[in-house]
Amino acid sequence: MLKMNNVGIALETARKARDILGANGIVDDYCIMRHMNNLESVYTYEGTNDIHKLVIGERITGISAFV
Ligand SMILES: Cc1cc2nc3c(=O)[nH]c(=O)nc-3n(C[C@H](O)[C@H](O)[C@H](O)COP(=O)(O)OP(=O)(O)OC[C@H]3O[C@@H](n4cnc5c(N)ncnc54)[C@H](O)[C@@H]3O)c2cc1C
Repeated sequence: MLKMNNVGIALETARKARDILGANGIVDDYCIMRHMNNLESVYTYEGTNDIHKLVIGERITGISAFV
């Protein structure tokens, strides 16, 4: 749950930082895209965000939404 939540919030924060920097947000002079790329990896490995949500949802509701 902690991994799912902190990665989601970190990605949101990195996207906001990129947006605040405007066009500079996507160039190498600023490192925000490096953080975003790194976070996109963490979003997937050791349990994707989707699967974490499905597992937590099943534990809370007792209903499996896996396909
Ligand atoms: C940078 C990086 C490093 C990694 N390092 C390692 C490592 O050191 N060791 C290791 O073993 N693995 C490693 N992995 C692999 C990683 O754990 C897998 O990529 C991850 O578990 C997702 O599996 P997949 O890529 O096969 O995606 P898939 O399982 O094919 O999933 C594709 C998409 O479908 C969704 N999905 C899958 N099944 C369901 C379902 N039943 N219902 C609904 N949605 C579903 C997923 O959430 C995802 O969005 C790494 C991956 C990355 C990106």
